Amino acid sequence: MTVSFKLRALVCAWTWASLAPLSAQAQDEQKTPPPYSAQSTQNNQIRFGNTALFRNLIAPATLEAQAAEEYAQVIHDAERNKTLLPDNNPLVKRVRDIANHEVPFALKWNDRAKNWKWEINVIKSPDERMVCLPGGKIVVYSGLIDKLRLNDNEIGMMIGHEIAHALREHARERLGRQQAAQLSSNGMPQLFGFSNYASQQPDIGDELLTMRYSPADETEADVIGSEIASRAGYDPRAAVTLWNKIDSGTRRADDGFIWLHPYGPDRRQDLLKRMPDMMPLYAKALGKTTDQLPNYAGMGRFKKSGR
Ligand SMILES: [Zn+2]
Repeated sequence: MTVSFKLRALVCAWTWASLAPLSAQAQDEQKTPPPYSAQSTQNNQIRFGNTALFRNLIAPATLEAQAAEEYAQVIHDAERNKTLLPDNNPLVKRVRDIANHEVPFALKWNDRAKNWKWEINVIKSPDERMVCLPGGKIVVYSGLIDKLRLNDNEIGMMIGHEIAHALREHARERLGRQQAAQLSSNGMPQLFGFSNYASQQPDIGDELLTMRYSPADETEADVIGSEIASRAGYDPRAAVTLWNKIDSGTRRADDGFIWLHPYGPDRRQDLLKRMPDMMPLYAKALGKTTDQLPNYAGMGRFKKSGR
């Protein structure tokens, strides 16, 4: 008993000492989103700041299990309320078809993803939102597509973006940051063993459904999501019309979808800046050259200079 107690005290002291400076580092990373370069895209090695420290506070299997439970509950509630759209519903078929095209291009971004049991369901709802939970469980609320009148390219960009949040484990990282901040502010650790963190948070499932991401997370999800969707044959220029629609359609709600995924002039500019890297991927998926691509929303073809 004594040895065990001393060991616990030692580990707690070590984790506390280790985490205190991380909190300051977390704030710095929030302020300065890591840079992106076209070169990194060409090498398929888009790299952002070192967020592994925070992700590693929660075991991925633990979070994926929690997410699967939350997903099952959401689907169960929708079945009970008769709002779960059936497999033969045209909207369900449409979003599943788009997701099925994209998933093969998603797997390289997360070693665990090839073993995820990907699922996608649509709930009839006026809500304009969708979410991809850790582990590949996707819920689409029909208002997102019906009310904003999204076309297939926009749905493709939306699914790509949400999948990217899950692949890059942004939720795991944010929950880890919360844990680090809790340890810092309370002066001593609340828990022994961070792998238990997720299971001791009663509202973690709800948090997963309404997770608000940082500008750096959004940028990463835009870049990786656009790449996945473009390779699957969805027009990357649709990301601009998609987020413009979401911005104007959901801003009025306090916790609207655009609040969960912050979007402003800088992010829009980033989307446009990366277009010359995405257009060739889209053209290749269609078996065309960039010059042969049709016009989209008057945006041109974003050809790289010198070509
Ligand atoms: Zn997002």
